[in-house]
Amino acid sequence: MKDTFKHQGLRNRLIAVLESKGVTDHAVLSAIKQIPRHLYMDASFEEYAYKDVAFPIVANQTISQPYTVGFQSQLLEIKPGDKVLEIGTGSGYQTSVLVSLGAHVYTIERQQELFKKTERLLPLMGYKPKYMSFGDGYKGLPQFAPFDKIIVTCGAPFIPKPLLAQLKVGGRMVIPVGNTEQMMTLITRKSPKEFDKQVIEACAFVPMLTDKKLKDW
Ligand code: SAH
Repeated sequence: MKDTFKHQGLRNRLIAVLESKGVTDHAVLSAIKQIPRHLYMDASFEEYAYKDVAFPIVANQTISQPYTVGFQSQLLEIKPGDKVLEIGTGSGYQTSVLVSLGAHVYTIERQQELFKKTERLLPLMGYKPKYMSFGDGYKGLPQFAPFDKIIVTCGAPFIPKPLLAQLKVGGRMVIPVGNTEQMMTLITRKSPKEFDKQVIEACAFVPMLTDKKLKDW
């Protein structure tokens, strides 16, 4: 596994693109600058790693677009030591950005092939989450709740109630809500019973598979 000056140069250019699109948080940009995104993709697609596009990985899934990773991370306002729940581990790239921001990450993936691949990759990359789970993101991880932050990296047809319940008071959740197209949505928990909802912008993610589909495994 190699990270060269050429890759670092391409990452510097990518950072400029993300800044122009509104990702301005320095900690987030420096995490993206440091993480070799090409190593989370198939080697034959390396040339696409530093373009600002989503890209196919195994099991019909995608590695999120760098802008999306930057934007969601920025919305979360991660502080070192934050306990973060991530739904949709995928390639582990977003996970690595969160770990590099100092978060303690608990992440769930429902595709077994992808789960196994990323479980092997992340320790090698040096961005180890606290806990990786093969399972259903709709349920969250109640045994580790509450979380300071929750990030959903697949398109959720609705906001799952268990995830709201697992968010700390004062905590933030970023979730793309919708079916074929989604709206990036920021939820803030104001009190045990009060949630503030801010709809931010349109986005496109692979679908968060529902319980019904999960039964069809
Ligand atoms: N953050 C990832 C993006 C992966 S795409 C990255 O940077 O690579 C979204 C991922 O969500 C896919 O891997 C998909 O398998 C997973 N996913 C879909 N529905 C899910 C569910 N119900 N629970 C957990 N993961 C789910």
